[in-house]
Amino acid sequence: MASVNSAAATVRRLEGKVAIITGGASGIGEATARLFSKHGAHVVIADIQDDLGLSLCNELESAIYVHCDVTKEEDVENCVNVAVSKYEKLDIMVNNAGQLDEFKRSILDNTKSEFERVIRVNMVGPFLGTKHAARVMIPAKRGCIINTASVAGCIGGGATHAYTSSKHGLVGLTKNTAVELGQFGIRVNSVSPYLVATPMLNEYFNLDEEGVGEAYSNLKGSYLVTRDVAEAVAYLAESKYVSGHNLVLDGGFSITNAGFSPWQSQ
Ligand code: NAD
Repeated sequence: MASVNSAAATVRRLEGKVAIITGGASGIGEATARLFSKHGAHVVIADIQDDLGLSLCNELESAIYVHCDVTKEEDVENCVNVAVSKYEKLDIMVNNAGQLDEFKRSILDNTKSEFERVIRVNMVGPFLGTKHAARVMIPAKRGCIINTASVAGCIGGGATHAYTSSKHGLVGLTKNTAVELGQFGIRVNSVSPYLVATPMLNEYFNLDEEGVGEAYSNLKGSYLVTRDVAEAVAYLAESKYVSGHNLVLDGGFSITNAGFSPWQSQ
């Protein structure tokens, strides 16, 4: 007897959908590209790591790579135009590209140039991605935009000043654009992951996949991997009525007060 599980495994939840994934060459973006492709989507990988992006495309069923620095409006505009001219529509825009800066003990040691670099990639990038996705989604009267924020966009003290500011700002952009674009049938949401072992994180934390989860998390016996974030992005992509939502994937980290909770020492 064919089990329910094997039937579910063959369901292609994003069949025929066209999705741009910025930062799609590595980490969370790569996992999202792989999952979307497995579910039948045509994937446009938009990144600045050309070799990595191109080799990933070769592994996917239907994918193209576009060099796209998300801080440059002409690159983002071109990426959306390439997607639409190749596949004749854009259903899903995943604004995922991001960068982190080095932690400094005092704000006095933070430089304006580093602060601006992070804001440019993590906030201006998604602004441009949203703007140019909306340009083609508004006439189509449908579409879905998903921003990769962070648990650092929900609380203070979780990351550097620049990164925390950029991710709080991105949650704000998500909500504001969801309000505006709802009238055109376009949904805008964000995902906010806790620490996940990716090249970006590994640059600053020398921890393996399990180590990242075990080091600081509230939820024990489990840890977050890139595929889990991709599953959350896929849920938001295929959902019907969810908009303006920030889907937090942190095992309860951001709602835990470690200094107060009587359960922390158990
Ligand atoms: P990653 O370094 O593996 O991937 C980031 C990708 O973004 C890379 O492929 C990189 O080339 C690309 N990128 C960087 N700057 C770019 C630019 N200007 N234009 C286009 N592409 C650019 O890191 P990741 O952890 O997968 O990060 C993906 C997103 O997830 C980021 O927005 C990050 O802030 C967010 N995030 C990560 C974690 C974590 O713990 N890893 C947690 C929460 C949120």
